[in-house]
Amino acid sequence: MNPSLRLLLVEDDRELRQTLREALVVEGHEVFAAASLADARALWTTQSAAAAGGIDLVLLDLGLPDADGQLLLTELRQRRSTVALIVISARDTEANKVALLDAGADDYLVKPFGIGELLARMRVALRHRGTALAPVITHYEREGLLVDLARHLVSKDGRTLHLTPTEYKLLARLTRSAGQVLTHRQLLAEVWGPEFIEHTHYLRLYMGQLRAKIERDSADPRLLLTETGIGYRLAEQP
Ligand code: CA
Repeated sequence: MNPSLRLLLVEDDRELRQTLREALVVEGHEVFAAASLADARALWTTQSAAAAGGIDLVLLDLGLPDADGQLLLTELRQRRSTVALIVISARDTEANKVALLDAGADDYLVKPFGIGELLARMRVALRHRGTALAPVITHYEREGLLVDLARHLVSKDGRTLHLTPTEYKLLARLTRSAGQVLTHRQLLAEVWGPEFIEHTHYLRLYMGQLRAKIERDSADPRLLLTETGIGYRLAEQP
């Protein structure tokens, strides 16, 4: 059973808004629904001031009647809000997804999507935000790979793996966000530094090295997944 969350649902399609609201309420969450950017801003302000204490997660449609939903994302991040935010949109171009993830969205779901998938992405986004409800991942196990960030230990099928410092930094970054896509820019900026964000060939090279060490078959990766044109995702723990 999921802990109960306070959700801001921004969606102008009445039918989809009601379907999502009902499904999320059934899961035990409290849902504040907005049909426009103006409604969303007003609800955000009211709920931030409410005694119950702010919104835990935002579900954000982009095509809204009064503005582009991305504006809300930009405004929240400019105000240094660390609220978990998932974009729900029919727009599915790679450039669009990259721009939203780089602007601080936690994930992106292309319509139509199933409620099961939405709930899974919500769990990952909350864990990534390291809320008390879902602490950040420091211990990861899947397909015989074990990553223990507290002990600085990586092993495969019980044998310790020797990673270079850069390989370790990269794997550690992916582990902390396991299940979540990270863009090329995010990985390059956080592992190498902001001056390296264009150097995608570094990433390809190091991903190849990491796959050779941690995958059973590096030609058919099950752990380090490529999101074509966007970035990489470490498979979610089972
Ligand atoms: Ca819409």
